Amino acid sequence: MSKMRFFALQELASRYPVNVPYPSERLSDYYGDHVFNRKKMQEYLPQEAYKAVIDAMEKGTPINAEMADMIANGMKSWAKTLHVTHYTHWFQPLTDGTAEKHDNFIELDKNGDVIERFSGKLLVQQEPDASSFPSGGIRNTFEARGYTAWDVSSPAFVVDKTLCIPTIFISYTGEALDYKTPLLKALAAVDKAATAVCQMFDKNIKRVGANLGWEQEFFLVDIALYNARPDLCLTGRTLMGHSSAKDQQLDDHYFGSIPPRVTAFMKELELECYRLGIPVKTRHNEVAPNQFELAPIYEDVNLANDHNQLLMDLMKRIANRHNFTVLLHEKPFKGINGSGKHNNWSLCTDTGINLFAPANTPEGNMLFLTFVVNVLMMVYKNQDLLRASISSAGNSHRLGANEAPPAILSIFLGKHLSHMLDEIVDRLDNAELTAEEKRQLQLGIGRIPDIIQDSTDRNRTSPFAFTGNRFEFRAAGASANCAAAMIAINAGMAHQLHEFKTEVDHWMRRGLDQERALYKVLRNLIIASKNICFEGDGYSEEWKKEAEKRGLTNVHSVPEAIMKFNDPQSRAVLLGEKIFNENELNSRIEVELEKFTKKVQIESRVLGDLAINHIVPIAVIYENRLMKNLHYMKELFGEEEYQKMGTDRKELVREIQHRILSIKKEVKDMTEARKTANHLDNDIDKAFSYSKHVCPYLEVIRDHIDHLELEIDDEIWPLPKYRELLFTQ
Ligand code: ADP
Ligand code: MG
Repeated sequence: MSKMRFFALQELASRYPVNVPYPSERLSDYYGDHVFNRKKMQEYLPQEAYKAVIDAMEKGTPINAEMADMIANGMKSWAKTLHVTHYTHWFQPLTDGTAEKHDNFIELDKNGDVIERFSGKLLVQQEPDASSFPSGGIRNTFEARGYTAWDVSSPAFVVDKTLCIPTIFISYTGEALDYKTPLLKALAAVDKAATAVCQMFDKNIKRVGANLGWEQEFFLVDIALYNARPDLCLTGRTLMGHSSAKDQQLDDHYFGSIPPRVTAFMKELELECYRLGIPVKTRHNEVAPNQFELAPIYEDVNLANDHNQLLMDLMKRIANRHNFTVLLHEKPFKGINGSGKHNNWSLCTDTGINLFAPANTPEGNMLFLTFVVNVLMMVYKNQDLLRASISSAGNSHRLGANEAPPAILSIFLGKHLSHMLDEIVDRLDNAELTAEEKRQLQLGIGRIPDIIQDSTDRNRTSPFAFTGNRFEFRAAGASANCAAAMIAINAGMAHQLHEFKTEVDHWMRRGLDQERALYKVLRNLIIASKNICFEGDGYSEEWKKEAEKRGLTNVHSVPEAIMKFNDPQSRAVLLGEKIFNENELNSRIEVELEKFTKKVQIESRVLGDLAINHIVPIAVIYENRLMKNLHYMKELFGEEEYQKMGTDRKELVREIQHRILSIKKEVKDMTEARKTANHLDNDIDKAFSYSKHVCPYLEVIRDHIDHLELEIDDEIWPLPKYRELLFTQ
């Protein structure tokens, strides 16, 4: 083992878990104590200001300047109790992660004396000079300025000594530069469309909210080992590394006992989450070694997403305190499981009905069936949009690998629900139901809850699975902002529900009563979306063939997947539901393509450097050592005897020499491919060129290096290997 690795591990061995004490025995004593929630608003705001915030949250009523001043002042008074010195507008630009720019409360009064103030104006809107964030051309063509504006629906919170105010981030022209703005629009769209459909069943329903429960997967790597791997530090994933003799074959890590140093990290992370009102609930070891998962109780999508963004940030910081680095990359290690972020999604009415949960009455179940069937059609029609929403350089290594959903979209319903839908189609074959047939049908529909509660079938290979009271979208990547997937799903659903309602209305105008019209349209939808339903093994080769026969799309190239944002169906959803305007949509595509290009470009450069500066020189040293050995053998034993000896070393020298030459050649060719791509002046061609002509080299070069790793003396190998990265805890 190299000296560097020896010291890294020695240092590690001297570490012990740092357990932080809980502030109190009772969770409720400190849960949310860093959040300006309703309880604190009531305490710190005058009555009228409190009412103004609640109205803004619930009804979208604007907050006037006077109220804003009162709210800001109350917020500051509360923050002061936590010794806060700075405030920031916290937003989600189109990069990975969140952005903040801290200002302190300091102001000078007329006499030049220092005072601490936080005005309503500063709370409501700011103009950070954030001109370096990706905008996809929006800010070049118009104004350079970007504005942040307070998102009243997500409460302010305190991290360290800073008051963070969740905001949207828009350009001077009001166009979105972030994830939150279109997410709020998609949520409003699905609210409107779903409420209209619900009202056909129950006039008391006035709002429909979307819920999200994410499951965050991640790897932990010892910080010393991480720092000794430039590829991990610079790209978030290992660009080389032979698989460890032991990795996940034994499944002994999955749900195993969590190692003490990891438990200490999790404990501190959970503690901070609770103080910030993030309701994390479940933690466990995942399938791959050193892979873990954390999941909260689901919340309203916007809040849940803010919480996920905040969590990813907290994880990174807290992990450092425990001498770990968190890897949120979708595929940090080749050959073992990658990390996803399942998005559990449901729609819920203001009267407390979960629209994806079967009810106890036939009427309730008609509502349930209506929404489930519309989900089928939504996914069927928007396969490409959903895939585009989760496509990224990182996720492309994970999708379709044997542990993650394929790039083909399909829905798993479970055999009972599928059967139920088939039954509806059969029975409704005859559009004119007799009273008895209708009774039978209702009886069948009434049975749904028992069926679903009784059946525990789960299918972990499905990218979009019904799991009893929600749908679980499993294709999202671990590092992604959930908003991207949630925009696609909720906007797609809004669009689908509009079409559904229009169709039902059409049949009612043609003289059918509402019930018949509903049955008719549902039946048509079940038949039309049949091809998206798949109950079998989504990881299998047969499914790929079958899916192709069914006409389902399967796109592997990231740029191609991203370009589907621009196909007619995606445009109908995103522009039709007014989530984006034309300019915003184009800019989004440009930003996503650029992100892909840049990531591959960085990976390619890092791999080139490491191959030439780290690996080849070591290979040459080892090759020389072997040659010297052969040379001495010849001297000592004489030609004839020598010819019979050392054949293994001679072969090895040839092999190493071949790999050295190949690496040099491939790196040179890869650099040329990069140059050619860089010279293309449009972002689309550039991304396609990187995908087609640069990406393949990453694999070829890596393959040579991974072989050398097995061949060269471990003592001089310059990088920590998979066995150290994955099995050091
Ligand atoms: P599993 O790994 O079996 O899928 P987990 O318990 O890890 O289950 O995660 C399930 C996630 O789904 C949690 O975040 C949970 O809060 C969320 N969830 C449960 N019910 C709903 C629902 N009705 N709507 C949205 N999310 C839900
Ligand atoms: Mg799950």
